[in-house]
Amino acid sequence: MPSSFNPTVRTLMGPGPSDVNPRILGAMAKPTIGHLDPEFIRLMDEIKGMLQYAYRTKNELTIPVSAPGSAGMETCFVNLVEAGDKVIVCENGVFGGRMADNVRRLGGVVVHVEQQWGRAVDLDAVADALKNNPDAKIVAFVHAETSTGARSDAKGICDLARQSDCLTIVDCVTSLAGCDVNLDDWQADAAYSGTQKCLSCAPGLSPISFSDKALEVVKNRKTPVTSWFLDLNLVMGYWGEGQTRAYHHTAPVNALYGLHEALVVLQEEGLEASWQRHTTNHMALRAGIEAMGMSFVVPEDERLAQLNTVTIPEGVNEAAVRKQLLQQFNLEIGAGLGALAGKVWRIGLMGYASNPKNVLLCVNALEAVLSQYNAPINKGVATAAVQASYS
Ligand SMILES: *Cc1c(COP(=O)(O)O)cnc(C)c1O
Repeated sequence: MPSSFNPTVRTLMGPGPSDVNPRILGAMAKPTIGHLDPEFIRLMDEIKGMLQYAYRTKNELTIPVSAPGSAGMETCFVNLVEAGDKVIVCENGVFGGRMADNVRRLGGVVVHVEQQWGRAVDLDAVADALKNNPDAKIVAFVHAETSTGARSDAKGICDLARQSDCLTIVDCVTSLAGCDVNLDDWQADAAYSGTQKCLSCAPGLSPISFSDKALEVVKNRKTPVTSWFLDLNLVMGYWGEGQTRAYHHTAPVNALYGLHEALVVLQEEGLEASWQRHTTNHMALRAGIEAMGMSFVVPEDERLAQLNTVTIPEGVNEAAVRKQLLQQFNLEIGAGLGALAGKVWRIGLMGYASNPKNVLLCVNALEAVLSQYNAPINKGVATAAVQASYS
């Protein structure tokens, strides 16, 4: 008979989940109450308000979907895309590819804007696609591509889309709380995120936000939304403002305690302070990595602070190194995906995990393991480089 499960305490510096703040784990262990309890309704209202703060938006429809980031993605597509709709999808990594798959499954027509992995989406290519497809309804893109570590110019893409009367769908899964997300400034129409990246919450929820314009499109669809669970017309009966909240599905009560606490933590620190912390720790990690002689895949001005894609030194078995890091140091870093598989490591510095202690641990553990494998790196210099970056 299995006994209680007791996971080893790891340091999570991969592409997500990131380390969960103990305050959030504590919040999730509080007694479950009913999902229509007046106290719970108050918690829901506070979550909505704090999500507006995190997304920098006044969008009324700013709520957590009761499922992980992929469900937030699906919520955006299934509500806004109808069969025959043309959607321009920017693809510069794994997650853009998933967006295209969503559109195809809904009977939509995909116009691809392809970009080399490791680079930001090219604005000129988006402008060309818009010019060549005046009937396009939506432009979809990933703000922070976790598969490559590239950050795209969200405001620039949203501006282009709006000039052509297109709605925008923005993947903010890895960017929310980690770098500049500003939905109202961008005038983005639909965005989705996840709780397990820079919010440092347990996985399993997806904060979304829809502009009033996007909500009008959802309300005026010619055909019903094909997903019952994700149909915002129905979900808003539970999460909507003012009117009596009606049962739609049982909210994941304790998971929402966790999200509430994560957002309280974010407000206490301050949104901009959180972005700055991610940058500061990224610069220190970078100093250590470069001192060892390794380099970054993404050009400097397109780099994410929260997801660092590092080239693997010559002749190194990348999977063996990750295994050693996990076994010897309880440290998890990520492998490369798709076009970058076997060529890079992905080192996350997300949320609670973005701190000086983790930067030092990662740099020192990498040096120890790479030395063990006789990898061609500079030894004995990384720690000082990290320290110098902080001072
Ligand atoms: C992690 C991630 C997702 C998917 O989120 P899940 O919670 O794993 O479903 C989508 N887009 C990006 C950019 C991500 O990093």
